Amino acid sequence: MSDFKLLINGKLVDGARTSNVVNPATEEPVAACPRASEAQLNEAVAAAKAAFPAWSATPIDERKKALNAIADVIEANGAELARLLTQEQGKPIGDATGEVYGTAAFFRYFTMLDLPVKIIEDSEGKKVEAHRRPLGVIGAIVPWNFPMILMAFKLPPALLAGNTVVLKPAPTTPLTSLKLGELIKDILPAGVVNIVADENDLGAALTAHPDVRKISFTGSTATGQKVMAGAAGLLKRITLELGGNDAGIVLGDVNPKEAAPKLFQSAFQNSGQVCIAMKRLYVHESIYDEMCNELAELANNAVIGDGLKQGTQLGPLQNKMQFDKVKELIEDARKTGKIIAGGDTPEEKGYFIRPTIVRDITDGSRLVDEEQFGPVLPVIKYSDADDAVARANASPYGLGGSIWSNDKDKAYELATKMESGSVWINKHADLAPNIPFGGARFSGLGTELGEEGLAEFTQLKIINMAK
Ligand code: NAD
Repeated sequence: MSDFKLLINGKLVDGARTSNVVNPATEEPVAACPRASEAQLNEAVAAAKAAFPAWSATPIDERKKALNAIADVIEANGAELARLLTQEQGKPIGDATGEVYGTAAFFRYFTMLDLPVKIIEDSEGKKVEAHRRPLGVIGAIVPWNFPMILMAFKLPPALLAGNTVVLKPAPTTPLTSLKLGELIKDILPAGVVNIVADENDLGAALTAHPDVRKISFTGSTATGQKVMAGAAGLLKRITLELGGNDAGIVLGDVNPKEAAPKLFQSAFQNSGQVCIAMKRLYVHESIYDEMCNELAELANNAVIGDGLKQGTQLGPLQNKMQFDKVKELIEDARKTGKIIAGGDTPEEKGYFIRPTIVRDITDGSRLVDEEQFGPVLPVIKYSDADDAVARANASPYGLGGSIWSNDKDKAYELATKMESGSVWINKHADLAPNIPFGGARFSGLGTELGEEGLAEFTQLKIINMAK
């Protein structure tokens, strides 16, 4: 038995079995979590399918009221959700609080959008209209690094557009989603949102389910490829937000002391477990040594620990598998570069890795070429900015990137040459619900957020009338 329940067809129900969610800071259980069987997943999809006709026919203003009510209930329970988020995910409580209230803000943002009928042509001979129709049942699949905010990339636009949803959180961070289910149960009609936790065994079934019309997926590139293959048979709509290996390129006119704290934050927020974390940093040779020293000092001074403890800046890695993967990349980097801060794990329990800075490393080493998704940053020396951009673009990933310089024109020119879904200038990873977000190449397919993100939850339908 568990205090947490699945939400299926408007009812809070037990799973077919339970298994623990582990606090990555203590390796102790947070709670027993109900895990759905495939039969329960099918019930959830059936409930969403049955709820679709009425929900899609509900006036959009009513749907907006529901989104606002969800935002209200998230805010009203913000402290409890944030605490739970820290316990299951590991991030510091301040960051968790920001994520929870950000989630509410994302729900509110989508209430400001509409899906009006667009007149394409109104001439003597004809009138042509573009309508945006809901798709049906959406499968929303979320990873473990930002369980709440990434859910809020999907649910509010899906619901606003008139779709119904089956949400599947990541197996290691399901509790905040299940808590949300409890909170929204009476806000939405039965079946409009269903929430099922699994043991990493139901994603493929959800993707392949014949009654699911679209999969909105955030996760790794390897799993995204499986989703694409699984959706192909029924030609489902898919949006894939996948991995990244964002480069930051710092020009020689930057003051290392001033820029280093921002660069550090861009790389180490959420202990580096951010799809758009800065994952490789190219620094001009003229300021390379000074920048490495500044970053090493910040890393040495960073407070790591249990996210519930006041003063903690960096929490643990979220799970053992990721912990082992990052440690392996650090061991490899020992051979290909020079570790000048961190590189070790503290004695105490928990999946902690000290923030690690690696210098004298370059492209071709695993830490630079692969997505580390952890608190370790390779700092690469370059002499020519165009060459640095070419090296940044050489990655199979293309999620984000940034240029840092006091010369705004030069920075802008280089930004136009970076081949990624987002490019920032003198900042990194600035996300907001009104700014469309998506990846190039192996970083994904399609767009989330903004009006473009909303449109992806609809079918474009043209009505073309003779006059
Ligand atoms: P993951 O791909 O292992 O898992 C993501 C989700 O997919 C989980 O809910 C998992 O249970 C589910 N899943 C597993 N097998 C599946 C299958 N065969 N079909 C469908 N779903 C399946 O990713 P992760 O390790 O949880 O997350 C880390 C990755 O996510 C990193 O690569 C990171 O860059 C990426 N990410 C991307 C973004 C973005 O917006 N681009 C945001 C956050 C994280």
